[in-house]
Amino acid sequence: MTTPPVCNYEDSDYQSSFWDKGGREYEDRTEAIALKRLLPKRGRLLLELGAGAGRNTPRYLGFERIVLLDYSRTQLGQAQQRLGNSTKYIYVPADVYRLPFVDGLFDAATMIRTLHHMADAPKALAQVKNVMASGGVFVLEFANKLNIKAILRYLLGRQMWNPFSLEPVEFVKLNFDFHPKAVRNWLRELGFTIEKTLTLSHFRVGFLKRIVPTAILVSLDSLAQWTGAWWQLSPSVFMRAKVVGGDAIPFHREDNILSYFKCPACGQTPLTQQEGYLECPSCQKSWEVKDSIYDFREPIKPDSTSS
Ligand SMILES: [Zn+2]
Repeated sequence: MTTPPVCNYEDSDYQSSFWDKGGREYEDRTEAIALKRLLPKRGRLLLELGAGAGRNTPRYLGFERIVLLDYSRTQLGQAQQRLGNSTKYIYVPADVYRLPFVDGLFDAATMIRTLHHMADAPKALAQVKNVMASGGVFVLEFANKLNIKAILRYLLGRQMWNPFSLEPVEFVKLNFDFHPKAVRNWLRELGFTIEKTLTLSHFRVGFLKRIVPTAILVSLDSLAQWTGAWWQLSPSVFMRAKVVGGDAIPFHREDNILSYFKCPACGQTPLTQQEGYLECPSCQKSWEVKDSIYDFREPIKPDSTSS
């Protein structure tokens, strides 16, 4: 099966080097504010795409259960250490282009600082749409190519790529910036309505972050976020999109985790529970379950890995 290349954070110390020691307190706090403004207060089942080490997960506490998805198993291992092994959290290493969930499962989903790594963003977003219930709320963050810095550099002739054109720009391998209009078009074509847009990180400028106290920058950004309703010229944009087709989430799926999954290779559901793995009764592929982590990246050969 061919899918677009994925950005893999396996064995990365991203959480520690980028967030804990990387001077990103300003970005982290402005994201907390945006999430509070965009996410429903309560809900049943939330899918966190690109959960990493679970930095944002404690902000979703109003949800009964949270599925943390990431391509990197080691990142999810760090999340598990941080959040603890409660039945509230389900850890799923998987490929975003082949999500292992049944259609209409989630009443909410978030994708923060993740679309950024998608070589085929519309394909990834279509997968998200499929697993969401009608009326479900999707909070999406993306890196904005139409930001002031990029516009100035382009106008001064110091940057080749055009921030005004709709196609994504890959400025570093597997790191993409997107045009807000392109993202809006993709979401609408998939059947989302965009309810709210916030702009973030207006003051992501090295010298400002050094001389102005973080709390002040956070307050200013908090106010500026609302201007996202009119224009989007900041490096980071959040959108709340709703799946068209109803306001309420009428159905209640049984609380059995097994009922969430489908085979990412052939789409079969339900899978059958075996000792240490889930088995697809249709294509016979086996997917490892170990330490409460459901690994759907590549099938395993159960005989050689059974413990
Ligand atoms: Zn299968």
